Amino acid sequence: MNLLIKGARPYGEDAADILVRDGRIAAVGEDLTATGAEVVQAAGLVALPGLVDLHTHLREPGREDAETVETGSRAAALGGYTAVHAMANTDPVADTAGVVEQVWRLGQEAGLVDVVPVGAVTVGLAGERLAELGAMADSAARVRVFSDDGHCVADPALMRRALEYVKALGGVVAQHAEEPRLTAGAQMHEGDRSARLGLTGWPAAAEEAIIARDVLLAGHVGARLHVCHVSTAGSVELLRWAKSRGVQVTAEVTPHHLLLTDACAEGYDPVFKVNPPLRTDADVEALRAGLADGTIDAVATDHAPHAVEDKETEWASARPGMLGLEQALSVVVATMVETGRLDWRGVADRMSVRPAAIGRLDGHGRPLAPGEPANLLLLDPAARSVVDPAALASRSRNSPYAGRELPGRVVATFLRGAATVLDGKATK
Ligand SMILES: [Zn+2]
Repeated sequence: MNLLIKGARPYGEDAADILVRDGRIAAVGEDLTATGAEVVQAAGLVALPGLVDLHTHLREPGREDAETVETGSRAAALGGYTAVHAMANTDPVADTAGVVEQVWRLGQEAGLVDVVPVGAVTVGLAGERLAELGAMADSAARVRVFSDDGHCVADPALMRRALEYVKALGGVVAQHAEEPRLTAGAQMHEGDRSARLGLTGWPAAAEEAIIARDVLLAGHVGARLHVCHVSTAGSVELLRWAKSRGVQVTAEVTPHHLLLTDACAEGYDPVFKVNPPLRTDADVEALRAGLADGTIDAVATDHAPHAVEDKETEWASARPGMLGLEQALSVVVATMVETGRLDWRGVADRMSVRPAAIGRLDGHGRPLAPGEPANLLLLDPAARSVVDPAALASRSRNSPYAGRELPGRVVATFLRGAATVLDGKATK
């Protein structure tokens, strides 16, 4: 099965044809021809390597009413992704080889993106004893990213042991940085606005204290550490300091933390309730600057589908989290490309190359060059559209971008040369 993509602009640069043969890029150049190949007209479209998400909640097993591996995979493909890491806070928790293999198999069956299971750090995410890290690493799912996301590995001695074990497995611990003793009952960012709205605050220091502790631990044991959903200016400063000292730390920022602020809480619409919370304008500015200069390595969605009864309720009782997969690239275009902070190679680096490297994924985050796996997307950068939650592929509807006009439309996505999205629609 051969494919000829005509006139795309790799990395937004000069137009070129891309010939795909047997799942790999066979040639990139002008006026390519291939008899019998399926032709995709791509004049004016930007070609990028398929995106890689380090942080997706697919909810299966356990909450298939909110999302399944298949529906989440479809949302991911529509967003331009070819690989997603599925977080471990399912029911049952992905803390054994059996559960991570189940999620991995469901991803294979859906066949829309490579679903890469994340293994829990501790049994049941309880933060008390380490899970079967080695068995998950050795399983068919080949787990390399371990996280208790949703919960912080708060015990410093346990975090140290996790870093040591995971280092021996060639993996990385992805920490949800939240000192739980400082966020009891927290509802939004702690500041002037939380005081005025009468909502319990989540102080920036609760995130920064854990990051400071963990970069010191990672440096001490010589292990890799990844920090999930960085949300404050102080966190960016700590990461910059740690990297300057040679600590092997990487970090991600979500699309929503790049675009939205705690002002969204003013209307008490729980679609804007998220953990960590939306912060201030100054934090958003620092996050964009940190992503631009590489202090923050990656954009990760923290795609968090929730069923209506869990989300469309009073602010205080609503679950934290929001959808992200289908709009992530558009938000990055709005906040980073249209503002001149990243070019298309920069987007490819932060949304594909570096996330694939952090997750130790072969075959993703590779250049658009002959011999490489044909994992790529085609984006219409000129298109603008208003987000309609009812039109999303996700089984849930909690999009914080509802009614907002965003730039960029994913026209096609290819996984090892097979179209998962064509003309903006999923192929299965
Ligand atoms: Zn988290």
